[in-house]
Amino acid sequence: MHLSPAPFEPFRFEGRELTLKRDDLIHPLFSGNKYRKLYALLQTPSEAIDTLVSYGGIQSNAMLSVAALCRLKGWRFEYTAKTAPRHLKADPQGNYKHALALGMAVHEVHPTEYDAAVAALKQRCAKQERSRLIAQGGADPAAEEGVRALAEEIRAWKEKRGIERLNVVTPSGTGTTAAYLARALPECRVVTVAAVGDPAYLQRQIEALMPLPPNLMILSTPYRFGSLDAALLQTYEKLKAAGVAFDLIYAPVMWLALMEAWDDLEGEVLYVHSGGVSGNETMLARYARRP
Ligand SMILES: *Cc1c(COP(=O)(O)O)cnc(C)c1O
Repeated sequence: MHLSPAPFEPFRFEGRELTLKRDDLIHPLFSGNKYRKLYALLQTPSEAIDTLVSYGGIQSNAMLSVAALCRLKGWRFEYTAKTAPRHLKADPQGNYKHALALGMAVHEVHPTEYDAAVAALKQRCAKQERSRLIAQGGADPAAEEGVRALAEEIRAWKEKRGIERLNVVTPSGTGTTAAYLARALPECRVVTVAAVGDPAYLQRQIEALMPLPPNLMILSTPYRFGSLDAALLQTYEKLKAAGVAFDLIYAPVMWLALMEAWDDLEGEVLYVHSGGVSGNETMLARYARRP
């Protein structure tokens, strides 16, 4: 499956001029960096395997994209997660609901048994030839091919525009996207933020895949992953008012850190939209329920 390249668009935010790479427009289910990270698997012939196995959060964007991929390919999708909250099981919502509808089989384990269950999963998959394991969030060397294709689009755009110094900005969960982008674009600076955990955690995650790229800049943030915060919601709303819907978990954290670092960045700024808007339904419900 080949989808057409997403456009580069001028964007103005809080008086600053930059460019957006609209990877969120690629596909409603394979949006943003999940399309890039699953690109190699999207090109894999259906007959090559019969099951994809993964694990992670119960509302994960990666989970939904893998579910869509399996539906498309006719593969079984087995997903291990910590026990879902009772209200969610009684009335599935958001990415969880959509992934179930796409045929995902969920194995729920008690939080204290999660790490052991994931370790067992890895062992089991290593023995099964027709199963493939995708690490949490798609933090997998197989992601490189698709992210490199994104880097090529960025390079072609930069050269056509005659841009000398370019900062490529995108938020990180596992850091897979930002790190492979940095590796594929040594002539640019890649700027990211650790939306999950602290910068040291992000660094360790990246170092599990490759030596830390020297042109990768990790900005710090005071916000915790998935937290509800008035400043994050307000940033999402301002971005929407400026014309583009972003996700509520990663993007507001990245935009706040970017605005703070803006004056120290030399050259032009390209923000790569990382997709994930499908998760907003449940995040907005959480904001609405908040006392
Ligand atoms: C998954 C995701 C990320 C994080 O990507 P990594 O490659 O794991 O760093 C960022 N933004 C959105 C919207 C995502 O869904």
